[in-house]
Amino acid sequence: MDTTQPATPLLDALRAAVGAANVITAADDMAPALRDWRGFYHGSALALVRPGSTAEVAAVVAACAREGVAVVPQGGNTGMCGGATPPAAGRSIVLSLARMNRVLDVDTVNDTITVQAGCVLAVIQQQAAQVDRLFPLSLGAEGSCQIGGNLATNAGGINVLRYGNTRDLALGLEVVLPDGRVLGGLRALRKDNTGYDLKQLFIGAEGTLGVITGAVLKLFPRPRVSVTAFAAVADPRQALALLGRLRERAGSRVSAFELISRYCLELVLAHIPGSRDPLGAASPWYVLTNLDDTDAQSGLRESVEQALADAVEAGIVTDAVIAETEAQSQALWRIRESIPEASKHEGLTYRHDISLPAADLPGFIDEGAKVLAAAWPGVRIVCFGHLGDGNLHYNCFVPGRERDDPAAIAATDVNEAVYALVHKRRGSVSAEHGIGQAKVSELPHYKSEVEMDLMRAIKRALDPRGVMNPGKVLAQD
Ligand code: FAD
Ligand code: ZN
Repeated sequence: MDTTQPATPLLDALRAAVGAANVITAADDMAPALRDWRGFYHGSALALVRPGSTAEVAAVVAACAREGVAVVPQGGNTGMCGGATPPAAGRSIVLSLARMNRVLDVDTVNDTITVQAGCVLAVIQQQAAQVDRLFPLSLGAEGSCQIGGNLATNAGGINVLRYGNTRDLALGLEVVLPDGRVLGGLRALRKDNTGYDLKQLFIGAEGTLGVITGAVLKLFPRPRVSVTAFAAVADPRQALALLGRLRERAGSRVSAFELISRYCLELVLAHIPGSRDPLGAASPWYVLTNLDDTDAQSGLRESVEQALADAVEAGIVTDAVIAETEAQSQALWRIRESIPEASKHEGLTYRHDISLPAADLPGFIDEGAKVLAAAWPGVRIVCFGHLGDGNLHYNCFVPGRERDDPAAIAATDVNEAVYALVHKRRGSVSAEHGIGQAKVSELPHYKSEVEMDLMRAIKRALDPRGVMNPGKVLAQD
C-alpha cells in the first residue's frame, strides 16, 4: 500500500473493497466532487470512493455504516439543489457511480434496457437509437447526468408531457440499502401487483434511502418525423388554448410544449452569441412545441400547419414559424435551453421551480407580477418552462441585489412571496429539481404534518442510523 496515503480503519476497509486507486483522498483530486456545478455549495469528505460493481457499493456502504460515516451518492453532479454535495462539517464519503457505466441488456421484444446506475443519460439515448428505439428522457444536462441521478431526483425534462417523468420510465431498480444489503429488483415487468411497490421509495429520494446501482427502463418506438414550431401568443391563457388545439388535432403526438416570455428571449439575444429572434415583431409571450410520430406518412406537419392556421384565425396565435430543417429546429430549442445560461450573465437570481394545475398558471403569473412588483419595484421575472406539465421556472432579479452580496444571497423573502402564491393554489415548490440541501427548511412549511411524519417514518425505517445522505430532503434529527 502507498504509505503516503492516510490510513484509518475505514480507509483501509474502503481500499480493500474497491482497490486503493479508487479511494481518492488528495484534496485537489476530490475538489470537483466537493462542490456543485454552480459553485453554490461546498463540502468536505474523508474520501471520494469509486466502486465498480454492486457488490463493491454494498461493501462500501456496510463499512461506512459500521463506522458511522455518512455516504453521499454522486452521479454526474449536475443537480440543482446541492443534493450530491457533502456537508462541510462531519464525517462523510462521496460515493461516485461513474465507473458503473455499463449497459447490461437491451430487449427489443419487451422494449426495455437494463443499465448500471452510472450510465450517462445521452449514452442510454444512443443505445436505444441503435436498436431503433427511443429512450425519451431528455434534459439540458444529458451529456453528463447519470441515470442513477435522474432516478434519484425523478428528473423531468422536455418530454414529460408525452412520456412522463423518470419515475414513469422505470420498471425495475437495484438498490444498496443503508445497512449494505442489496434490494435486487432488476425485473422487466410491466405488471406486478405483489404488494408495496418498493422501487418507488427510492425514485425521487435523492439518495437518502439507498444507493441506486441499476435499473430496467422502458423503451419506445423511435419517431420517424418530428415537427418543431415557435408561436407568438398574447398571454399564457392563449398558450394553453393553443395546447388544447394541438392536442385536439395531434393527440398524444404533442411531446413538448414550452412557454417563453419576451424577457427570456431578450436575455438570450443579449447574452448568447449567434442567437436571433425567430419572428419579425416582438410578442409578450411565446410557445415552443415539438410533435412527433412514428409514421413518416401520417401528415403530422400538415396537421400542425392547420392547427396553427386555425389558431391564428381564432386569435389565439399572432404569428408562428415551423422549422424547415433539423438545424432550424435545433436553433429554436437552443433559445429555450440557453435561458438559464443567459440569466447567469445578468446577475443574482432567486430561482423557483414550481408546479400548479395548468389552468391555474395564468392566474399565478398575473398575480406574481403584481405582488413582486409592489414589494420590489423594478423586479424582473424570468418566466419559462414546461407549460404542458404545469411546471414553470420562475426566477427573479431584484434591483440592488448583487451576486457578491452575502446578505442578498441568503435572503429568503422573495422565495417566501413566490411560494405563498404557489401554496395558496395547492401547488408544489419543487416540480422537478428536488429538495437537496437547498429547500430542506422550506419543505415543512408546504407539506402537511402528516406528510412530513410519514416521510420521517420511512427514513427512520430504512436508515435508522442516518447513514444515507444526511441533511438532504429532511433535516437531520
Ligand atoms: P447528481 O447531481 O450527482 O445527484 C443528484 C441527487 O441524486 C443527489 O441527491 C445525489 O445524492 C443523488 N444520487 C445521484 N446518483 C445516485 C444514485 N446512483 N443512487 C442514489 N442517489 C443518487 N432536471 C430536471 O429535472 N429537468 C430538467 O430539465 C433539467 N435540466 C437541467 C439542465 C442543465 C443545464 C443542468 C445542469 C441541470 C438540469 N437539471 C434538470 C438538473 C439535473 O440535471 C437533474 O437533477 C439530474 O437528474 C441529476 O443527475 P446527476 O447524475 O447529475 O445527479
Ligand atoms: Zn425544467
